[in-house]
Amino acid sequence: MANVVLAADLGGTNLRIAAVDSGGKILHLTKRPVPKSVSPEQLIELVREMGAECGSFDAVAFSAPAPAAKEFDGVLTKLPNLPSLVGMNLKAALDNMFHLPVTIENDATAAGIGEDWIGASQDVSTSVCVTLGTGIGGGIIINGEPLRGLDGTGGEVGHICVEPDGRPCGCGSHGCIEQYASGTAIERMASEAGMNVTTAAQVYEAWSTGDKQAKAVFNTMGRYLGIMLAGLANTLNPEMFVICGGVTQGWDAFAPRVEAEILGRAYPAAAARAKLVRGTLGDNAGLLGAARSAFQRQ
Ligand SMILES: [Zn+2]
Repeated sequence: MANVVLAADLGGTNLRIAAVDSGGKILHLTKRPVPKSVSPEQLIELVREMGAECGSFDAVAFSAPAPAAKEFDGVLTKLPNLPSLVGMNLKAALDNMFHLPVTIENDATAAGIGEDWIGASQDVSTSVCVTLGTGIGGGIIINGEPLRGLDGTGGEVGHICVEPDGRPCGCGSHGCIEQYASGTAIERMASEAGMNVTTAAQVYEAWSTGDKQAKAVFNTMGRYLGIMLAGLANTLNPEMFVICGGVTQGWDAFAPRVEAEILGRAYPAAAARAKLVRGTLGDNAGLLGAARSAFQRQ
């Protein structure tokens, strides 16, 4: 088994790389911006440079914003924020550079694994981690095992439909929860209501001062999120919903409505069972989860 994993987390704007030990301790962390049209060669060069800052390691893990199935060939297929990397064989490139075991995880699945390992859901065995950011990602852990699915879409809760004739979504469907409860959606709904805002954080600031439109936006957002989670509460009967991502900074603006919706819709036993909590690992959830996968696979 590996002693130290070099874990990388590729987001839409930043690459974060850390050396992580088998207890989940981050030994060294480094972060750099990723150019919008980064080429595969540039990405690998960044990983090499940043990895060299992290000391010695004996396995490599990567949390990527792309589907990663259980039998994953390592080719990045769907990267809405980094289209220049589509088609890149990330696993082969990392194999060639490091000659070490390489593990690649979908970023939202990795966040769920991280929270399950040493975060909010460490004391339960069945949980759903929902990351509310620019989009919505999910990581489902059943009896301690991540659900990746045969094609890597396991846990993709962001594209559960909550409004049959709703807004078109980047996935090709419409009315997905991502269109109503992501940071992007909160900002859009507020703008449509006439608020002069450019970020979800500004909508939350307005909510804090008692702004009626901001209240209505978070009420709508919380309602839709609760509808989705009520369905998952019945389907998976989890012990915990862990909500992660930047949108959780507005927790008190939406969490009560989400809880009320779950209680009002799910089976009473399932609703009572599923605790709604915030993630505790912050930006490091994906890094740590990818590292955990690498430790478990070797
Ligand atoms: Zn969608």
